[in-house]
Amino acid sequence: MSIDKENNLFNTNFIYDITKFTHLDYPDHLSCIVWFGGCNMRCDYCYNKDIVFSKNGNYSFNDTLDFLKTRVGLLNGVVLSGGEATTHNLKEFTQEIKKLGFKIKLDTNGLNFKSIKELIDLNLLDFIALDYKAPKDKFLKITHSNRYDEFSKTLDFLIKSDIKFEVRTTVHSDLIDENDINIIINDLIQRKYKNNYYLQSFLKTTSNIGDLGTPVKKFDKAIIDDSYIKIVWR
Ligand code: SF4
Repeated sequence: MSIDKENNLFNTNFIYDITKFTHLDYPDHLSCIVWFGGCNMRCDYCYNKDIVFSKNGNYSFNDTLDFLKTRVGLLNGVVLSGGEATTHNLKEFTQEIKKLGFKIKLDTNGLNFKSIKELIDLNLLDFIALDYKAPKDKFLKITHSNRYDEFSKTLDFLIKSDIKFEVRTTVHSDLIDENDINIIINDLIQRKYKNNYYLQSFLKTTSNIGDLGTPVKKFDKAIIDDSYIKIVWR
């Protein structure tokens, strides 16, 4: 199928930026990162404020596909990140990326279960990094979203599916402590999650959404329960 150049979906600038090369983001792949504008959360520790609040991006799907055509044979992966990529219609775009022969990794907060399920059912994704933001009782405080149940549905679906995926949490120890992380680990065990669980420390930048400083509380890694799930700090 050739893309209709007048098609609004393919000519609207949803994409804030493109990182042209990384070997760090998609395990075992040379990739580019497509940064989608907009997000359905407002995490205080987010360091992509400009992307989350952007109204107009700089690149359209057609621009991105034109770029990807120049990378066939040089890259083997495309990372869809943001912001939250699934706040946009990804079906036709990922179909076109697949036709060029790239694998696709999606970074997601898991709120858009319907879209994620559709993309997986159509074999349009190869890897997912799912943020587990906080235990249910702290989800609203951390994300400013009350849609834990939708995230939970996505997590259960991924665990039951065959897709490769990982779960990760950002730790700002004034917001989320060792007990919270152990609650998440216990929840992952109950759900029969078998992969590594990645923890990443909060990054203070000039672009955080919330007015957060360096954490005051100490985070004791020794208290984290790693008896059943491998914990990896990044
Ligand atoms: S950290 Fe939170 S607000 Fe920022 S892009 Fe991710 S989900 Fe959206």
